[in-house]
Amino acid sequence: MDKKKELLKIAGEIEKCSLCKKWGTGKPVPGEGNPDARIVFIGEAPGKQEAKTGRPFIGRSGRLLRATISDVGLSEEDVYITSPVKYLPLRGTPSRENILHARTHLFRQLSVISPGIVVLLGSTACFALLDRKVEMTKEHGNIIGERGLTYFITYHPAYALRFPEGKKGFISDFKKLRGLMAGTVS
Ligand code: URA
Repeated sequence: MDKKKELLKIAGEIEKCSLCKKWGTGKPVPGEGNPDARIVFIGEAPGKQEAKTGRPFIGRSGRLLRATISDVGLSEEDVYITSPVKYLPLRGTPSRENILHARTHLFRQLSVISPGIVVLLGSTACFALLDRKVEMTKEHGNIIGERGLTYFITYHPAYALRFPEGKKGFISDFKKLRGLMAGTVS
């Protein structure tokens, strides 16, 4: 399969998706990175800067995410970064209905990329992929095998920027992630 071509096809569908546009505004933000990535990072929804450019995680929380990715020894070419919701939500936090629709695009992206690890950044990503409410303070750092994928739970970088205990957890989770990738944590 030509993964790059398949991902471009999905991006084209996101661009035309009238249901996604019902709840969102700005440019579509399908995601970016290596179509063969072994690790995929999943956030919540694009913010204003992302909606202006069409690129994921380029604002303040994106800078923290990208810096932490590189701190654990990954390069942006090794990973894929995206969100369950592909447009800037009209009303701040995306609604449940919006997530349940938008994640259908994400499921297709994941089946094309077929990564070894899917990092869930925050509770919206957890809800979209695990279908349940996750109590982040209790479950961050956990590794979950479900539906043929390995999920790793951590805080959303925006939360890490706002709360010192979130930042501490985020950084220690990424260290654990490094071990997971190196095969020293299971
Ligand atoms: N937050 C997200 O969850 N995704 C982005 O692309 C930007 C901010």
